[in-house]
Amino acid sequence: MSRALQVLLMVLFCSGLEAGAGAPPGETIEITRRYTPEDRRSGRYQYVPFDVPAHATSVRIEQAYDKAGGANAVDLGLMEPGSIDFGSRALRGWSGGARTEIVLTPGTASPGYRAGPLPAGRWHVILGLYKVAAQGIDVTLRITTGTGATTVRRWYAGDLHLHTVHSDGSFEPAQVLEMARASGLDFVAITDHNNTTHAVARPPDPDRKPLHIVGEEITTPGGHANVWGLKPGDWLDFRMAANDTRMIDVAAAAHARGALFSINHPVADCDACDWKQPTPERVDAIEVWNGGLGPQPGAIAIWDKLLAKGRRVTGVASSDWHRAPGYIGAGSVRVFAEALTEPAILDAVAAGAVVMMRDPASPPPVVTVTSAGRTAGTGETLEISPGAELDVHVSIPAFTSPGLGACPASCTVELSWNGDSATTHPAADGTVRVRRAGGNGYLRVAVRSGTTIVALTNPVYVTVK
Ligand SMILES: [Zn+2]
Ligand SMILES: [Zn+2]
Repeated sequence: MSRALQVLLMVLFCSGLEAGAGAPPGETIEITRRYTPEDRRSGRYQYVPFDVPAHATSVRIEQAYDKAGGANAVDLGLMEPGSIDFGSRALRGWSGGARTEIVLTPGTASPGYRAGPLPAGRWHVILGLYKVAAQGIDVTLRITTGTGATTVRRWYAGDLHLHTVHSDGSFEPAQVLEMARASGLDFVAITDHNNTTHAVARPPDPDRKPLHIVGEEITTPGGHANVWGLKPGDWLDFRMAANDTRMIDVAAAAHARGALFSINHPVADCDACDWKQPTPERVDAIEVWNGGLGPQPGAIAIWDKLLAKGRRVTGVASSDWHRAPGYIGAGSVRVFAEALTEPAILDAVAAGAVVMMRDPASPPPVVTVTSAGRTAGTGETLEISPGAELDVHVSIPAFTSPGLGACPASCTVELSWNGDSATTHPAADGTVRVRRAGGNGYLRVAVRSGTTIVALTNPVYVTVK
């Protein structure tokens, strides 16, 4: 038997949604258990009970312990109410040593766990004592059960700019969707030039991954714009010259349909691809990263000009994929959304809860800015007092973008303020903490592997009140 240290504290967790794997507000308990090598010999699997109240909408479990340079390793699993005896059907999931945080809701679950109803009663965290150092180990579990109506947000990976045989791409829509699924993307927008017939050929199926958002690339001699969220077969007119004020009407028509409007590759060097149209009052996004080349300084300069005017336009990365070479998702976006549905994804894109990434599979850096107990993440606004400083926290998960060195070990983090004054920090063990001056403006984070940008966040906005 292990010696149990008792439940340490019970606090009301009222910070709301956090930037990260979020959970709704709820009750949090923290439990620390101590295990010895003898415990490991007598019981490889240890069970830590906790209670889930009626009408729970989320269960979040965070595990923390000292790995002691690899001498300690504790696996993680979960059982819902029911028998914990061998052969029980109450196993809710198992992630072994792959993750230290799991979140379950009726509609979503961390990999290795089942989504579904969260029955009230006694649950058990399973701790698998894979390795326990001679001096023993303290394992702390922080368990949050949410009962509010708030939904859980998480990061979804998507590519918002793809072509098929319905314009100048080489593959059928079904093939493009299958390749996107195989590359790990959660959603795509197919954006053929000046039509949406790809979606008539293969209507979106909301139950099938990747989520398929119907788009059109409005293609004019004065530049290209993507519209995301059209009905299959719908189209917006493209028959405009350069500097054509009717582009403003087209953007309004997109918004009237509930769709978003994005300026594509504004400084592309192909003939008539750069943006020479009037910029509509409402532009939801700008594609500052097109294809495998990474973010283009000229496109970022245009983006910064819009941001400097107080226009919160979302920066996006897309592959603009037609065929090899290159691949779907290089670049792509990570979107912090409430659900994998078209409205939720488009809402989060419009809100700027977006990180641009070089490849389709790597997880995004998570940025949190705090001042006087208030916190904001990517796309959010932090209100501060005059003269207040900002505590910036960047968490860089472990990933390797194709052909580059592994992050965080070989990566650096650049913080830029209002588009310049960048400071560079080693990503080291995956956490960067910087205190800096506040003020009205916006903070953006780039992660480089060597000299190549592998991730670029949208801003956290700061307002002095
Ligand atoms: Zn284009
Ligand atoms: Zn295109």
